[in-house]
Formats: sequence, structure tokens, C-alpha cells
Amino acid sequence: MPIYEFECGECGERFEELVAAGTESAACPACGATGAPRRLSSFAPTRQPTAAQRRRMEDRRGIDRDGARQRFKRNLAERRERKPGS
Ligand SMILES: [Zn+2]
Repeated sequence: MPIYEFECGECGERFEELVAAGTESAACPACGATGAPRRLSSFAPTRQPTAAQRRRMEDRRGIDRDGARQRFKRNLAERRERKPGS
């Protein structure tokens, strides 16, 4: 579940709430008013990553470190073979 930031229209309180994805409003913890709208600004998109994105994230985290290193070496070798101007 994503954490969204809300801003209360009644008292101006800003708060973060762990809510179901797509929730547009929440109850204010300061004054109890309901329907404090979600702030859209400061937060990165909270959509769940796709399978492909997750794989890429795992690559970056080094789970596939050996594979990545071999790919890197291969790229380097290819780049050396393809010299500019030849
Ligand atoms: Zn409030």
C-alpha cells in the first residue's frame, strides 16, 4: 500500500497516510475532518512496478551481478572494436 500525503482543508494540517492505492481523501488526524484531499505534488508515483521494472531493479541491486558484469565486459569489448573513424 502506498503512503500518500494529504492536506486538510479545514485546519491546513498536512499528514501522511498509508492507504489503499488510488485513495483520494482521508480523515484529518488533527481536527477529525473527513475528506482531506490528497496532495499530488511532492511524491513519486506510487504505482506498483511491472515485472520488467522489477527485474531491472533487481539487476541494479546486484542480484544478477555476475550477469551484469559479463554484459558490461562484452559491451566494453564491442566498444573497443568499433573505433570511431575506422
Ligand atoms: Zn484538519
